[in-house]
Amino acid sequence: IAKKESSGSYIFFNRQMESNTLSKLEMGNHLRQAMTRNELEIVYQPQVDCEQGRIVGVEALLRWKHPTKGYISPAEFIPLAEEMGLIIPIGEWVLRSACAQMEAWHKQMGISVALSVNLSVRQLHDERLVDKVRLILEETGLEPRFLEMEITENVAMKDEQLDVLRELRSLGIAISVDDFGTKYSSLSYLKRFPVTKIKLDQSFVRGVHTDAKDRAMVKAIISVANYFQLNIIAEGVETEEQASFLVENGCKQIQGYYFYRPMFAEDMLLVLRQSLRSKLAFMEVAAAEG
Ligand code: C2E
Ligand code: MG
Ligand code: MG
Ligand code: MG
Repeated sequence: IAKKESSGSYIFFNRQMESNTLSKLEMGNHLRQAMTRNELEIVYQPQVDCEQGRIVGVEALLRWKHPTKGYISPAEFIPLAEEMGLIIPIGEWVLRSACAQMEAWHKQMGISVALSVNLSVRQLHDERLVDKVRLILEETGLEPRFLEMEITENVAMKDEQLDVLRELRSLGIAISVDDFGTKYSSLSYLKRFPVTKIKLDQSFVRGVHTDAKDRAMVKAIISVANYFQLNIIAEGVETEEQASFLVENGCKQIQGYYFYRPMFAEDMLLVLRQSLRSKLAFMEVAAAEG
């Protein structure tokens, strides 16, 4: 009976795998074509410095506008893109497009807003990454000091990848640790990694008014950033209470629906214009007062 059962479950497992593989393959093929069919788009989410009262950066976030399924979240297709190696050309496309867009905004408005781009650990394994990044910066004209790359803590990070990060840093690019605190060995990563900023994960931010442990987590991470002399930004900030808790505890940079949702470039242009106006007004007031 045991044998029968196990062979039965084997068959079941096999069928299950087959159908998973099929839909994955299908989706993978679509994803491959998505780039050439212009189905990939980038949305931008502002990062606000509460002390300066202005937008200091924007994060580029990928969207796939599927012809029948509508917008598909990157959380769904990035892992597939990584598995298929497609993350290399896709990541390059995101970087080139977002750098070009940011440089256009800089030229149009004379602003000094930074661009954050998510980098998959798979891209750090691409030996041509640094050359590609250098070339993209040259082509688009964006100054390296305006570019930041976000990486997540990852076990697949070896000395070679650390060298790649160091080379990116030496180009003048900033490196931030995304979703900080959600994976393990966070502290030893900070010791080993040439990073400049921590992104406080939204899972801790969410609980600051209901969960004492989340409050402790947030405070602890903020002091870690201070001790390591790193910048810190909180992500996923949705309420005024969360924002004021963060600011009161020393995290002045905030990204989240409370200020802005991710938006298409056309809307971002308007928001940046607006932000430029209110910044000017703010400076005029300060000047008048001084
Ligand atoms: P992430 O880099 O941690 O980006 C933050 C995510 O939180 C984004 O989800 C953003 O839309 C969402 N978010 C921002 N503010 C709030 C808020 O107040 N509340 C809530 N509930 N969510 C908020 P999104 O755009 O779906 O992206 C998911 C993840 O996909 C990203 O997480 C990132 O890891 C990955 N991703 C996105 N674009 C790229 C890309 O171009 N390359 C790579 N490798 N990964 C990307
Ligand atoms: Mg990110
Ligand atoms: Mg994050
Ligand atoms: Mg995330």
